[in-house]
Formats: sequence, structure tokens, C-alpha cells
Amino acid sequence: MKYIYRFEEGNKDMRRLLGGKGANLAQMTTLGFPVPDGFTITTEACQAFYDNNNQLNDDTLTQIEAAIAQLSEKVGKQFNSPTNPLLVSVRSGAAISMPGMMDTILNIGLNDQTVEVLANMTDNRRFAYDSYRRLLAMFGNVVYEIPEGVFDQVLEDVKTTHNYQSDLDLTVSDLKEIVDQFKDLYVGKAGKVFPQDPKEQLLAAVNAVFESWNNHRAQVYRRENHIASDLGTAVNIQMMVFGNAGEDSGTGVAFTRNPATGENKLFGEYLLNAQGEDVVAGIRTPQPISTLADTMPDLYNEFAAIAKKLEFYYRDMQDLEFTIEHGTLYMLQARDGKRTPTAAVKIAVDLVDEGLISQTEALLRINPDSVGAILYPEFDEAELDQNTVAASGLPASPGAASGQIYFTAESAKAAHDDLEQQVILVRQDTSPEDIEGMVISEAIVTSRGGMTSHAAVVARGMGTPATVGVNGLQVDYQNRVATISGEQLNEGDWISVDGTNGNIYIGQIKTNDTKVNDNLSTILEWSKQESDMGVYANADTPADFAQALKFGADGIGLTRTEHMFFKPERLLEMRRLIIAEDAKEREAPLAELAKMQQGDFYELFRLSEGRSVTIRLLDPPLHEFLPHDEKEIQKVADQLNIDPTYLARRVDALKEINPMLGHRGDRLAVTFPDIYEMQVRAIIGAALDLLDQGLIIEPHIMIPLTGSKAEMKWVREVVVNQVEQLFAKKGAKLEYTVGTMMEIPRACLTADKVAEVSDFFSFGTNDLTQLTYGFSRDDVGSFMPEYIKKGILPADPFQTVDVDGVGELMKMAVEKGRFAKPNLPIGVCGEIGGDPKSIEFFEAIHVSYVSCSPFRVPVAKLAAAQAHI
Ligand code: ADP
Ligand code: MG
Ligand code: MG
Repeated sequence: MKYIYRFEEGNKDMRRLLGGKGANLAQMTTLGFPVPDGFTITTEACQAFYDNNNQLNDDTLTQIEAAIAQLSEKVGKQFNSPTNPLLVSVRSGAAISMPGMMDTILNIGLNDQTVEVLANMTDNRRFAYDSYRRLLAMFGNVVYEIPEGVFDQVLEDVKTTHNYQSDLDLTVSDLKEIVDQFKDLYVGKAGKVFPQDPKEQLLAAVNAVFESWNNHRAQVYRRENHIASDLGTAVNIQMMVFGNAGEDSGTGVAFTRNPATGENKLFGEYLLNAQGEDVVAGIRTPQPISTLADTMPDLYNEFAAIAKKLEFYYRDMQDLEFTIEHGTLYMLQARDGKRTPTAAVKIAVDLVDEGLISQTEALLRINPDSVGAILYPEFDEAELDQNTVAASGLPASPGAASGQIYFTAESAKAAHDDLEQQVILVRQDTSPEDIEGMVISEAIVTSRGGMTSHAAVVARGMGTPATVGVNGLQVDYQNRVATISGEQLNEGDWISVDGTNGNIYIGQIKTNDTKVNDNLSTILEWSKQESDMGVYANADTPADFAQALKFGADGIGLTRTEHMFFKPERLLEMRRLIIAEDAKEREAPLAELAKMQQGDFYELFRLSEGRSVTIRLLDPPLHEFLPHDEKEIQKVADQLNIDPTYLARRVDALKEINPMLGHRGDRLAVTFPDIYEMQVRAIIGAALDLLDQGLIIEPHIMIPLTGSKAEMKWVREVVVNQVEQLFAKKGAKLEYTVGTMMEIPRACLTADKVAEVSDFFSFGTNDLTQLTYGFSRDDVGSFMPEYIKKGILPADPFQTVDVDGVGELMKMAVEKGRFAKPNLPIGVCGEIGGDPKSIEFFEAIHVSYVSCSPFRVPVAKLAAAQAHI
């Protein structure tokens, strides 16, 4: 078995065998870049090590011996040589990078003799002993598992005694002293001595690296990141070059482009007279790489040229490690660089412009979820540094905002409308009655509730930042004070809320508004060329829709008309309507509501400029619109000018044991057709008004909660009759469709029949999941986390489609539906419609469009493109 590859034998495609670091060192060597010589012990040797009771097998040992001999010959240095000793680094590197998991040991080969040889050879004692103390610390840590801090402490103590500012102040005798103390630590802490034989050092280091593959940290990391355990790690043995050999030497890290912004310019830092990870360790303040252009222009140009070539070769932004030894440049590592979402988008677009990658590749380079993050406002970093986190909760809805706090929807709205304040609604929890206060808030904070609480769902829908379930927040409605981690706040006080990480700060922090930039627009444009899946928005108001259009929405896939009833004057009419005892009493409030709704639809249609708009008729149980406690009932009775006991009786009569399975959705149309009729008149009326102005709208009317063909047929007739009457009355006509939500399993099972009376389907995945799994989506908080933790569920099925169950039902509904009507448009609405993993599945079952909250639109567009590639 070949367990060892010299760098010149490998290339970048051998990651599995050589690990990422080894494959890239080999590649750079092959490209002719200045890489210190060395070789890689393969991941197969690591597996063999485990098969051999955690010991290197004879085959591996022989090959290491031979490789060292070959390396010695090539570079003209030998272990223990009294004139030119060989020193190497031992560097771990798995196929998939596992940051901080396994460690590197530098300066292997130094011992009490060779340190002197090195000192004499270089005429630099300080450098030699500095290298030796580094070896002792790293070896002690990696091989003998003596905590790093123990060595750091010795160093600190010496510095304190002599009042030194920097490591550079350490003298040769200090370093010798440190070396001795380190050796004592070996005995004291591990009961071992430092092996003087370089070969023994090397083999112990290789052993330790292989062992570390299975240490606890590494196992946990692999489990969390779904990395297979049997991959193993490789080990790289490489001749040392010395960045700590003097002021003409140094070490640094650089990105070929700015990893924060994506700007096409070398970005990085270096330290002179330093070794290894001094740059990242923050011991001294590093210099920006640009200054190297002044101090060592030739070297800088050489490095910049290598950086460009590497990018060209790897066709991506690279993260580089380098060392300078006496003015000579050495490359020590290259890998694809990590970057922010903003940078990812810019770099992908730029690489296409530069001809390095294709549009399709660019789309695949960007994580759809991260695109969402670009759009959310963030706190200004400099200002954030001046603040401390006062409390934190669940990051329910991303984005950052500052505002003045209010504890009721009314006081928030008053402050917003009358005082023109930026407000934040802070409550124990929210309910539909708080909608108005939520709509005008910059952010929403609740002390209770989880990721699917009312506050969380509504806030995400509106794209308003929200942090919920905040520990350490108490809201006292009675006395109108809130306490955040001990500090008392009154209405009108400022706080800042980061819904992306759940943090809350007291006081005001500036935000940086990030909008769809040109690069993102380009990506969205390319996405559209790639996939013909429509991406619509769930939008209930013109403001939502306008936002969605900015993010590239193809139209509206779901307008929840009930949300339009939550403004005070409308709520009042709605309540009047609901408590009415007969059709006669319902007439007046219906007429009022019709006027208002027609205005809403008119606005949405006008904004659509002819794009598809789907409007769902009333869905929730009626009692959701009614007051519940005595005080509220009294208040509403006063407003409606009716007897509170009568109102209480009506509220009681409408109460249901299981409202989500009760009198809601199209069941309302069967019992009170006049509500749906009113909505239909408003929809078609608005479209006809626009037709007068020359804008052709084809309204899509959607019926919720259909369970059977007969039911859909009945409701469809109600709708169609109303439309025909209106056409006759107005003497005008237009195209329209009547389709159904698919959210009851029975409708999916009988989709071929339902399709006969439906112009389109739209899966309502929330209810469909709830009804298929029997999980009440309002109550899953008490057990879902345990299910996920215990591995019974792979993910929350309300956030990522349950492919095996709910997905199977959807697939069947698509097939049956299209069997009856081959061109049946089929969509998905609900938050799941913006989830990349789910979109991949929807694409596979040939769903025609998805609809999601405005902020998810760009995410969904990119995900749809990736699903199609
Ligand atoms: P990590 O995986 O933590 O980045 P590395 O193996 O890249 O660890 O080693 C860390 C640092 O050690 C490198 O960035 C480089 O500065 C230094 N280093 C490693 N090998 C050598 C070597 N042969 N000569 C000089 N410096 C080295
Ligand atoms: Mg490291
Ligand atoms: Mg490295």
C-alpha cells in the first residue's frame, strides 16, 4: 500500500486521500510555486493506524523512514546534523476542513544539540531558542496534552518579571530559562521527558495527529456537521522555513479578495519576525498586506502574482498562508476562502465577468439561505462595539432595529401616528388583536413564546425583526414598566433589537440598511433564466407587496384577506357582522367591509401591473375576531352600542372545542355564503375598475380548506354566480380563475376529482402538515424540540417539508390533479415555500410555483435555480 505521497506527486483533486491541505500543497508545488518541500501521509494510513490498535503499522513506518531520507537528500539537511539540521512541521489536514480540531507542530528536529547548531549557523541565538520554546509548547500540548495555557503562563510570568511589552523583548537567556521551565512542566504535568531524538519526535507527533481524529472535540464536530467518521485525517511533513529569523522575515495570511465585501483586492495581514499563527493569535498588531508593497515591493509583486494565478487555477477566491524567510517568499497553504453573504454574491458575479466561471456555477456558489441575510438591516459594527447585550432571546425574525418601547398596540400606534416615533412593541406575548401595533413597529419583543408563536410568525411574515422568549425580560402591564436584566424601562425609552441573533441592547444603535444591490439583482436575474418555477410572495398589504416586488417577486401567491380586517374600524364592522343573527342584520356591515376590501384589492392589483395575484377568501374561525375576557366584551359592546350580556352570549355560542378543525374556511361559505360573496364582489369589482383604466387583471380566487369535490363545487358555484351577476350589472367581463388550497389530506387523496372543479391548486403546507402528522402547530413547542434532539424527527416538518409523508401526499395530489387536468397550475404557499431544501423537493414533483414571505423571495429564486441545475 502506498501510504506516502511527495508533494510533487499529488494534486488538488486528491483531497480524500491527501486531505485538503495536502492536496493543495501538492497542487501549488506542481504549479511551480515556492512551497517548502515535504510529503503527505495519507488518510488511508490513518485508517490503517486505527485498524492496528492505534499504532502506525510497519509498512507506514518504513515508508516514513524512506520519505525522510529522500527529503533529506533533496534539501541537503539531516536530522541531528551537526552542520545543517533538518527541521520539519507536522501538519494535520482532513478532507473536509475541521477548524481548530487538530493541531500543528512546528520545528520538529530541534533538541539540545541542534538548537545550538541552528544558533551558530544563523548567527542568531535568539531565533534558535525562540523556535525551540515554540516546539516544546506545541509538542507538549499536542502530544502530552498539557494545556496550552500552562505554557503561556510561563511566558507571561517571565515577561511580567522583566516588565516586557512584547515577545520580541525576550532575551536569549530568558528564552533558555523558558525552555528549561517547559521541560520541567513535561515532567510535572505528564510525567514524561521531551524526546531528544528527532525521529521519535516526528513519530510521536504523527501518532498524536492520528489520535486526535477521534478525540472528543472532533467527534462532536463531525456529528454536528454530518461528516463521516471513517474518512480519517492526513498528516503533512514539511521542511521548516523561518518567519522568525529576523526583521527580513515574517509570516502572514491573506485573501485574494476582500472576504467581507468581495472587493477584488488582496486583503490580509502579516507580522515581521514571527512564526506560525502569531498573526492570528493577536500577540502583536499585524500590518495590512498593502504595506508590504512599500517595504518589500518585489516580494509583494511575486505574492500578488501567485494569488492571481491560484484564483485562476482554483476559479475561486483563495485564503492563503505564507512565510518570508530572509526576504524569500514561501507558500504554506491555499484553500477556498470563507466569506460573508455579500462577498459571496459579489465574487460570484465578478468571477463570471472575468470569465473564470459560468453563470450556472456562480448560482451554485451561493448559499440561498445566506442571500436572505444580505437583505436584513444590521447594526453598525463600530456602534455595536460600544454597547453590551442587555438580554437575549430566540432570534424569531431577522434584522436589526432601534426604537422607543411601548407595551400595548394602542400606545405604540399612538406614539407612531401622533408623535411620529420609531416604536418597538414589547409584550409578554402577542395575539391577533395586537396586529395594528405590530405593523407599525420597527421590531417586536416578547418575554414568552417560541419560534412559532404568534409574534414570531407574524413578524417573519412582515419582515419585521423580532426576538421572542427573552429570558430576563419582565413586562408589567399594570405599572407600565419593563425590566430587562434588572434595569427598569418605561414607555418611550429606547432599545435596540437584533432579531438575527436574538440580542437586545438598551439605547439606540445605528443600523446599516442593506438593500438589493446590483450584484444580487444580477444573481436573481440569472436564477430566473435557469428556472421557470414562479416565485410569488405572500402579501396582505400594498406595503408587503411593494417590498416583495423590490425583491423580484413574480406576483402574489397568497393574500390572506382576514389580515385586512384587523384595522380598528374594520374590526368593528367585522364584529358587527359576526354577531348578527340573520342575513338581514349582516347586510350593513357587509356593505361597509365590501367597500374597504375593494379598495385593498384595487391597490394590490394596481401594484401588480398585471402580474399574477391570488387572493384567498376568509379562512380563520370567526371567534378569532371576537373579544374574550369580560373587560374586552364590555368595551366592544359599548362600541357596537349593544347589550354586553347579549354579546357575551354570542361569543359563547361561537366558541368551539377545536376551532382549527371547526367552522372555518370554506365551511363558512356553506353556512354564510354572503361573506364570500362580498369578498368576490370586492375582488372582481376592483379588477373591473382597473380594466376601465386599461390595466388587464386576471384575479385568482382561492378557496381555503377544501376537503372534497362536492364541497369545492358548491363553493365554486357561489363564487361564479356572484361574478356573473356582477358582470351583468356592470356590463363588462374579464378572465378569472377559481382554485383551491390543498391542505386537507382528503383533498389530496381525491385530487383528480377536486381538480375537475378547480382551476389551480395551492398547497397550504402548514395545515397539510398539521393534519397529516396530527401535530397541532400551535402546540408543537412542548414536544417538537425533544423529537428533533432525540433524532425521531430529522427536522421540524413545519420548516422543511416532510418528504416521506406529507411530501408523498403532495406528489400524489400533483399526479392525480394533472391526470385530470394536464396543465393544472400547482403552487405551494406558506413559509415552507421559501425553504431551499423543500424547494428542491417541490421542483422534483413539478410544482409550478412557490409563494413565501417577501424577504424569502430572493432565497427561493436562487434555491429554485439550484434545484433545476
Ligand atoms: P492550521 O490548519 O491550524 O491552519 P497549519 O498546518 O496551516 O495549521 O499551520 C499553522 C501555521 O504554521 C501556518 O500558517 C504556518 O504559518 C506555520 N507553518 C506550518 N508549517 C510550516 C513550515 N513548514 N514552515 C514554516 N511555517 C509553517
Ligand atoms: Mg489551527
Ligand atoms: Mg493553516
